Amino acid sequence: MQVLKFGGSSVANAENINKVVAIVKDKVATDTTVVVVSALGGITDVLLGCSALAAAGNEAYKDKLQEAEQRHLQTVKELLPLTQQSSVLSLVKTLCNEIEDICNGIFLLKELSEHTKDRIVSYGELLSSQIIAARLKDAVGECEWIDSREIITTDSNFGSAAVDFAVTDKKVAAKFAASSSKLFILPGFISSNEAGEGTTLGRGGSDYTAAILAAALNAHTLEIWTDVSGMMTADPRIVTNVKMIPRISYQEAMELSHFGAKVIYPPTIQPVLKKGIPTWIKNTFAPGDIGTVIEKDAAKDDTSIRGISSIGKITLLSLEGSGMIGIPGFSKRLFGALANAKINVILITQSSSEHSICVGIDDANAALAKKVVDEEFSYEIETNKVEPLGMERELAIVALVGDNMRSHPGISGKMFGTLGRNGVNVRAISQGSSERNISAVIGAKDVKKAINVLHEAFFETTYKEINLFVAGVGNVGGKLLAQLHKQQSYLQKYLRIKVKVAGIANSTKMLFNDNGGIDLANWKETLLKDGVHMTSAGFINTIIEKNVRNSVFADVTANADIAELYDRLLSKSISVVACNKIAASSSFEYFKSLKELANEFNAGFLYETNVGASLPVIGTLNDLIRSGDKVRKIEAVLSGTLNFVFNNYKGEGFSDVVMQAKKEGYTEPDPRLDLSGKDVMRKILILARECGSKIELDDITNNSFMPEECMQGSVDDFFASMVKHEAHFKKLYDEAASKGNILKFVAKYENGKASVGLQHIHPEHDLFHLYGKDNIVLFYTDRYVDQPLVIKGAGAGAEVTASGVFADIIRASRA
Ligand code: ADP
Ligand code: ASP
Ligand code: MG
Repeated sequence: MQVLKFGGSSVANAENINKVVAIVKDKVATDTTVVVVSALGGITDVLLGCSALAAAGNEAYKDKLQEAEQRHLQTVKELLPLTQQSSVLSLVKTLCNEIEDICNGIFLLKELSEHTKDRIVSYGELLSSQIIAARLKDAVGECEWIDSREIITTDSNFGSAAVDFAVTDKKVAAKFAASSSKLFILPGFISSNEAGEGTTLGRGGSDYTAAILAAALNAHTLEIWTDVSGMMTADPRIVTNVKMIPRISYQEAMELSHFGAKVIYPPTIQPVLKKGIPTWIKNTFAPGDIGTVIEKDAAKDDTSIRGISSIGKITLLSLEGSGMIGIPGFSKRLFGALANAKINVILITQSSSEHSICVGIDDANAALAKKVVDEEFSYEIETNKVEPLGMERELAIVALVGDNMRSHPGISGKMFGTLGRNGVNVRAISQGSSERNISAVIGAKDVKKAINVLHEAFFETTYKEINLFVAGVGNVGGKLLAQLHKQQSYLQKYLRIKVKVAGIANSTKMLFNDNGGIDLANWKETLLKDGVHMTSAGFINTIIEKNVRNSVFADVTANADIAELYDRLLSKSISVVACNKIAASSSFEYFKSLKELANEFNAGFLYETNVGASLPVIGTLNDLIRSGDKVRKIEAVLSGTLNFVFNNYKGEGFSDVVMQAKKEGYTEPDPRLDLSGKDVMRKILILARECGSKIELDDITNNSFMPEECMQGSVDDFFASMVKHEAHFKKLYDEAASKGNILKFVAKYENGKASVGLQHIHPEHDLFHLYGKDNIVLFYTDRYVDQPLVIKGAGAGAEVTASGVFADIIRASRA
C-alpha cells in the first residue's frame, strides 16, 4: 500500500491533472495506491472569499462563484472524453448549486460561523476529487472514491480540528479492508466530528489527510507531490540559490515546517513518524527528480544545519515585573490565559532572572492576547507587581534547523554575527534543549535580507554577494565601474566575492537595480535612459530602504551633503567607502562619531584615497600604530597638483604652468583649492587624526605662498592676477635656486601640531627626488628613527584613485 498526495498546483487545471494521472498510472502498476487530492489551486481561497463577501452583504460573491463553477466545468470538458462528461458535469453543477445556496443563506443572515466556513471550503476538495476520480477511472480502468468525512473523525474545533486517532484508525482500516480495489481517491483536508458535521484539518491539511491514511493503513511510503523538487534549504521564493535537501529527519522536517517551510503541513509528520513511514516530497512537474526523503535517521553529512525558514506576522508579547521573581505559577497563568483564548504560542523565551517572559504569537491574535492576559493579571497590574502586557508588532521569526547542530559549536555565534553585520536587530532568541532549532525574532522588514545572508553564510560556500552603491560616476567613478566590470570574474573566482552594482548616481540622476545588478557594459546609457531625479538624501534613503544584504556605499563625489549622511548608513550597518575627503576632514566630533558608529554597527568606514590616492598611506599608518609603534613626525608632499606646478616652474610663466596642470586634469575645477594649500591641509589633518590627535582644520598653520589678491574673484580673474604677480613667484623660485634648492609644498605633523607651506628642499633631502605629480609621505616613528618609512608614487589621477576606492570596497566586503 502506498499513499500519494497531490497539492493544489498539481491539480490546478486539466493539463496538470493529466500529469498527475500519468504518475498515478505508473504507481498503480507497482502496488495498491491511495490518492489524496487538494482542491484546484486557489479554490479554497476563492470559497473563503465568497463566504466573507456574502457575510458582508456584498453580492459580488455570485460572480466569483460563477467563475469558480466555470473553472471546474472547463476542467471536466478538457479532461474527459465527450461521452463521459455529462454525469460529472451535472455533479459539478449540483455541488456548485449547494455552495451558492449556502452563500445565499450567509448573505441573508449576515452571519458566518467557523462551522459554516468549513462546510463551504469542503466543496473544493469534494469537487476536485470527484473530477479526478472520473479521469482516473478512464485512464486506469478502476478508481474507488471514498468520502474522507466518513472515515476521519475529529473534535468540533472547526477550522483546525484535532483528529481522534483511535476512532479514525479503525474506520480507515475497516473501510479499506472491505474493498478489493487497487486504486482509491479521497478528498484531502476534510473530515467530520462525531455528530457527522463537516470539519477541516487546517489550511494545507491535505498533507495531513494523506499522512493519517498512510499511518492507519501501514503504507510502505507516503509521497507528497507538489510544485518543487523537494524540501529546500530555504523558501525558494525568498532565496535564489536554494539547494535541495536529499534526506531529512522527521524532527528536522517538523521544525522546518513549523517555522514556515510551507512545503509540508507541520502536523503531517506526527503519524508517519510514529509508524516510521518514509515520506517523499516530489515534483509533479519534474517527476524524474529524486526529491527529498523524510525518514528516521537522516544521513549525517558535513552540513551542520539542514535548512532555514521563517514565519511572518508575529507579535511579541512580554510579561514583565519584579513581582514575578521566584513566584511559581506566573507562566502557567500566562499560558493558561492564552490557551483558553485559543491563541497558539509559536515561541517562548524567559530570562534567567525570571523577570520577564516573552511569547511570540500570530499578529491576528494580538489584540485578544492583550485583553485576556491583562485581565488575568489585573490584580498584579493594579498592585504594580507586573506591567501591563507589552506588545511589539510587525515582527517575524527566522529559524535555523538541523539535528547536527548540537555537535557543532559556534553556530549561534555565526548566526547572530551574520545578522549583526547586516544591521538586523534581534528582539528575542530561543533555542530548544534539543538544539535542533535556533530561532530569532526580528523585524518583518528584515526577513528577506536575514534569510538571504544566513543562507549565504551556511550554504553558499561559493561566494558572498556584495550590493554596491556608487555615488559619483564621473571621471574617477566611471573608471571605478570599468575596473569592477573587468575584475568581476576574478573577484568571484579568487576572492569569492560577487560585487553587484545595485545603484549608481551622478549629480542629476540615480538608478537602482538590486535584482540582477546594473549591467556594467552599458551603465551610462541605462542611467541616462532609466535614471530618476537624484538628490543626496534620495540616494541614501533608497539604499537604506532597499535593506539588501552586504551593502557597501562608495562616495566618489566631492559633495558635502552626501558626507553629512554617512552616519545614517553606518548606523544601518552599511559600510562607507569615501573618496570624498569632506567627512574625514570635517569637525572632529562628526569624524569621531562616524568611527564610533562603524565600530558599533560592525560596518566599514574606509577612506584610504583621501590621502595620496591609492598609495597605502592611511593603511600603513594604522598598521604602525596598531602594532605599537609611535609616530614622531610626518613630512609629506601631498598635492600632486602643487608638485607638478613646482616641478615645471623654472622662474618664468607661473600662470602658464598652472594652466597646463589644469588642462591635464591635475587640478580641482577651481585650481585655487589646490594652490591655497587647503586640500593639503585636509590631508595632513586626516593623517594627524589617524595618529590620535583631536585636531581641527583651524588648528593647522598654512604658510600660503599665494598673494591675497590672486585668491579673489573668478577663475579667469585668478589666471589674470597670477600674471600680474609673476615677479612674486619668480622671487620665490630665485631665492631657492640661489641656494641650490627647489620648491616643494610640504605638509608636516610633529608634537601634535600640523602645518603646510612652501619649503626649500636641498638635493640631499628625502623630498628632493619627486617627479611629475607624485606624492611622498615620510613617517618618522619609534621604530623608523633615522631613516623614515617612505611611501611614494602617483598621488593623483582618475585611474589610480579609482583603484584605491576599489581596494577599499574589497576590504569592506571581506570584513
Ligand atoms: P501544495 O499546493 O502542493 O500543497 P504548497 O504551496 O503548500 O504546495 O507548498 C509548496 C511551496 O512551498 C513551494 O512552491 C515553495 O514555494 C514553498 N516553500 C516554502 N519553503 C520551502 C522549502 N524550504 N522548500 C521547498 N518549498 C518551500
Ligand atoms: N485546499 C486546502 C488549502 O488550500 C488544503 C490543502 O490544499 O492542503 O488549504
Ligand atoms: Mg501544501
